[in-house]
Amino acid sequence: MTPLPEGALAALARSSPVLLCLDYDGTIAEIVDDPARATPHPEAPSLLRRIAARPDRAVLAIVSGREISALRRFLGIDDGLILIGVHGLQILWPDGTREMNAGAARADLTRLRAWISANVPGDLGFRIEDKEFSIALHYRGAPAETTSRVRDAFAEFVKDNMSALTLAHGKCVVEALPRIAGKGHAMRALRRRFSGFVPVYFGDDLSDEDAFAAIGNEGFSIFVGPERRSAARYRVDSPRDVIRALSELATAIESHPCPANRA
Ligand SMILES: [Mg+2]
Repeated sequence: MTPLPEGALAALARSSPVLLCLDYDGTIAEIVDDPARATPHPEAPSLLRRIAARPDRAVLAIVSGREISALRRFLGIDDGLILIGVHGLQILWPDGTREMNAGAARADLTRLRAWISANVPGDLGFRIEDKEFSIALHYRGAPAETTSRVRDAFAEFVKDNMSALTLAHGKCVVEALPRIAGKGHAMRALRRRFSGFVPVYFGDDLSDEDAFAAIGNEGFSIFVGPERRSAARYRVDSPRDVIRALSELATAIESHPCPANRA
């Protein structure tokens, strides 16, 4: 991966409309011990508002494993933003239209809930996040000696018994979700819908790799974090650098006259 060159996104935004996709945790919010407290970087909401205010120059989507309701609560923005939650299973379009995709996975999720209540200790620092269309096992707070046993049992049960579900591994979390889910699917759907916009995607986790791959060499796939193997072309160090890049981008977008003022 190459470090994202300074000014590259501003140059892009001056010449082309941009399809800007942002993961949430670890991208525009720092990773924190309690996922319920992952507030966005203090400058993020106002930057997102500025970018979303120019639909002629930018389409803005948040693409997260979280539920849409949580993203709305954290960001406090409702206008002009596409919210994609639970790895593409929930979509809220700016006009208020919602899409939900669970397919055949519902029966498997019901059986997995029963397995969890019988097998995951309720008091050892494990936390179950049930997002209706997917179930995540968080183990950040669990002691090392029980973590691998419980996590591996969860993963094996899903692999061996749930044909409609697949696993996504992230930072101190493993998640069972419908096979049709994935940020790559979401990214391809956005690219089809906004084909005149150049894709830019920022993400920090394994679940973002499919989205990086879906961009290929045709836009900016940007990994957030220390150097590692990734399908992304570019890299920045931290959410602070993402904010810096978004600020550049917002200013470049605003340098275009508003369509309403052109007459
Ligand atoms: Mg993330």
